[in-house]
Amino acid sequence: MPKFVVLKLYNMPLTANHKPLKSHYDVVLIGGGIMSATLGTLLHELDPTLNIVIFERLGRFARESSAAWNNAGTGHSAFCELNYTPEKEDGTIDISKAEQIAEQFEISKQFWSYLISKNYIDKPTEFINSCPHMSLVFGKDDVEFLRKRHEKMTQSHLFKEMEFTTDHDQLREWIPLIMSKRKETEILAATKMDLGTDVNFGTLTRKMGRFLAEDSNVDVYLYHDVKDIDPNADGTWEVEVKNRLHGHKHHLTADFVFIGAGGYALPLLDSSDIPESEGYGGFPVSGQWLVTHNPDLIAKHQAKVYTLATVDAPPMSVPHLDLRIIDGKKALLFGPFAGFSTKFLKEGSYLDLPESINLKNIRSLFGAWWHNLPLTQYLVRQVAMTKDQRIQHLREFVKDAKEEDWELKIAGQRVQIIKKNEQEGGKLEFGTEVVVNENGTIASLLGASPGASTGAFAMLQVLEKCFPDKVAKDWKDKLQEIIPTYGQSLAENPELTKRIRNYTKEKLNLDY
Ligand SMILES: Cc1cc2nc3c(=O)[nH]c(=O)nc-3n(C[C@H](O)[C@H](O)[C@H](O)COP(=O)(O)OP(=O)(O)OC[C@H]3O[C@@H](n4cnc5c(N)ncnc54)[C@H](O)[C@@H]3O)c2cc1C
Repeated sequence: MPKFVVLKLYNMPLTANHKPLKSHYDVVLIGGGIMSATLGTLLHELDPTLNIVIFERLGRFARESSAAWNNAGTGHSAFCELNYTPEKEDGTIDISKAEQIAEQFEISKQFWSYLISKNYIDKPTEFINSCPHMSLVFGKDDVEFLRKRHEKMTQSHLFKEMEFTTDHDQLREWIPLIMSKRKETEILAATKMDLGTDVNFGTLTRKMGRFLAEDSNVDVYLYHDVKDIDPNADGTWEVEVKNRLHGHKHHLTADFVFIGAGGYALPLLDSSDIPESEGYGGFPVSGQWLVTHNPDLIAKHQAKVYTLATVDAPPMSVPHLDLRIIDGKKALLFGPFAGFSTKFLKEGSYLDLPESINLKNIRSLFGAWWHNLPLTQYLVRQVAMTKDQRIQHLREFVKDAKEEDWELKIAGQRVQIIKKNEQEGGKLEFGTEVVVNENGTIASLLGASPGASTGAFAMLQVLEKCFPDKVAKDWKDKLQEIIPTYGQSLAENPELTKRIRNYTKEKLNLDY
């Protein structure tokens, strides 16, 4: 039964939840992005008696990083991202990180398949579609790197279907738009994995949000901004939440708090005063895409094509030309181009960055900045680019790209984590980190990569760290039902990989 007055969470904005807030919840989830929606669904499924509430400061779920156009929609499985397979000093390729990411995405697909089989969410093609993942490199040295990488990766059954070519005819078949007007003498190579996917994380998050708000006993409050989290003497948390429509403030207590607030996770974690949050700082990097809806161009590009990052570029700025499938319509996206804003969320405040600096993290912030001057220079150059210069970049992919076909779209805001580091003062981190206090009563997700694709894995980590006894005993069987491969290694088990990929292919209506 619906639990609040104004519904329509999925398609329309909610105005407000008029149901009075309880004074105590077992679980408070902050933020209506993919992470809180995933954790809320998992917790509700593992223990339906839990008293759970989700607060979202905006009028709808998934309006920040999880929104379709705010991210690239790549179902990151390490099929195409060259930064997951570094070349070691001895010239061999290290694929261990790629194997981890591939396994983590299989966990997400199992979780979504479970939600489909329970009818909690429906119509998988509205949020996930098959889309080949390709890596493309130019020049003799990089072609050699890709050849070696392909040889190494196909020894693992996780990547054994990966194809490699340097042949222009084959490439024209795979990526006609990129190959158009290219000289026969040009040296380039590509790999292709048909198993890749494009994911609309926004629609997926809202589908989970609809389930939680309408078909579960989880309370969902939109336009509710969590302002402060303080520890109580009895081990619970005091949470201050402000209704943004009326300006009323409420105080409630919670046994467990998850901060899934995206860019705002850092200041909220800081407000909790847990020692584990000390020394963290945030560095906001905004992004932009070039997007085209021209059907002639789209017909000639049906893949996600990732290249190598330039020497000074951070890993999240690897250029890629991607097919997107959003609300049933196809489009192409190229980028990202980095931008700079002092906001921690797209709908945040310009004071976010200055207000986040305090005595505990200033050394980390300064250290990270000092040791990353090339990154600063890279960002300055990116920010100063005109549309014409961005189109010039695109022409490295699409030789005859025309400015009038492409529009500039603002992507989501990332807050890269800066972590305390003895040698450098502070170090810029590009991964995702789950921060948990000593007794596992508060957890937060910091960072943005590989992001939404590995959300189910990240939320399982939260459960394992914060509810270890339950995970080991009471919740064990249910977890196994939700994630059939839970606790097993796919990298070591070809039969299991095949079986689970067939299962998720069928449930999610994928081609491969
Ligand atoms: C440019 C870009 C490209 C990306 N590409 C990919 C990709 O291709 N594949 C991939 O898997 N991932 C990608 N990511 C990463 C991915 O988008 C994120 O990891 C993921 O969406 C994060 O989800 P979240 O729930 O943590 O945060 P969000 O989706 O940002 O949600 C946080 C929510 O918390 C709310 N909130 C904040 N503060 C408060 C508060 N105090 N009280 C109440 N609510 C609050 C916000 O309004 C927001 O709705 C990309 C990200 C960016 C920026």
